[in-house]
Amino acid sequence: MPHLRTRAVHAGRPARPGPVCPPLDLSTTSRFVDVLQAGESTGAMAAGGPPLHDEAVYQRLHNPNVADFEAAMAALEGADGAVAFASGMAAVTAALMLAQGAEVVALRPLYGSTERLMIEGITGARVRFADDLAGVRAAVGPQTALVWAESPSNPTLRVAPIAALVEAAAGAPVLIDATFATPALLQPLRHGATWSLHSATKGIGGHSDALGGVLSGPADGVARLRRLRVFTGGVLHPLAAWMLHRGLQTLPLRVAAAQRTATTLAARLQAHPAVQEVHHPSLRPDELAAGGLEGPGAMLSFAVGSAEQARRLLQALRLITPAVSLGGCESLMEHPASLTRRVVDAGGVSGGLLRMSVGLEHEDDLWADLEAALAAAGEGA
Ligand code: PLP
Repeated sequence: MPHLRTRAVHAGRPARPGPVCPPLDLSTTSRFVDVLQAGESTGAMAAGGPPLHDEAVYQRLHNPNVADFEAAMAALEGADGAVAFASGMAAVTAALMLAQGAEVVALRPLYGSTERLMIEGITGARVRFADDLAGVRAAVGPQTALVWAESPSNPTLRVAPIAALVEAAAGAPVLIDATFATPALLQPLRHGATWSLHSATKGIGGHSDALGGVLSGPADGVARLRRLRVFTGGVLHPLAAWMLHRGLQTLPLRVAAAQRTATTLAARLQAHPAVQEVHHPSLRPDELAAGGLEGPGAMLSFAVGSAEQARRLLQALRLITPAVSLGGCESLMEHPASLTRRVVDAGGVSGGLLRMSVGLEHEDDLWADLEAALAAAGEGA
């Protein structure tokens, strides 16, 4: 098998005649070639058969740019197939709907909106939360239709032990939200998981300019998701699919550069007297190895003394952009207790915690910004 960098450049770009760069197809509808044939397929769909997702009929059913992006994701993940959605949360919703009427066992910490959606139960899945592997083992039972974890998790960068989770799941499918890792560092299916989920908005797109989500998994589950997507309508827009697919080509290079910088910054932060704690998988190598992660990634978090100091630090930044989201070329920083975790009980997230998405700037420029902001945060403390 070619190396990941090679696969990222070519995945989902079949050698076909014509332009090297896939043409963008924005049409919402296509002229029928054979009206009766389309009618027969629609009838099969009504009888529970697969929707018309291989043919150009209507954009909610099929689009070539979305199909190319899905083929690329499936190839990188080592999955039978992939299904792309309008956002990461649309993918989270669809995955939970697969467990409708049954139970999901979810390992915390989780992205705040995922946890909120699980708590509200509007997808029809009941959720039992666990805080460690022993908790997952205790919660799994005959009603379990899905075991859910993030790796690394948001915002404290815990790495999920996928193989141990698969064992604890006792045959139930395991889903890993690998958004923070990206497929450049973690392909959960290669470690025994059934599903891999990404907010493609983040590292996959890589330029903070397109929303998307994607689930990769087994053929039967993919077919169920495609059907679900046709009827719930959360389909990815073709332009976003085109941009996310382009982002994949540079993903391994961007992640390699950003995680090198993140590792340097994590070490410098740890040695700084005003910093109380630092979270980055490079500081927990055993956890990183047990989670099958091929590198520590570009996300880190650290705590200063109080929420007020965190506010002063954010205000003093000159290069790092104070903003939510992650995985773009520019470094971003946010305050989880008041932003991404505000929708749930911020258990375990201190008021002084700041989360940083490390971008592609030079490490010394980022460190100069951080050092100056740490000094400003300490003034008057
Ligand atoms: N999963 C994780 C781990 C996330 O961090 C996010 C968003 O930040 C999502 C899912 C949701 O993705 P989106 O914002 O694309 O809906």
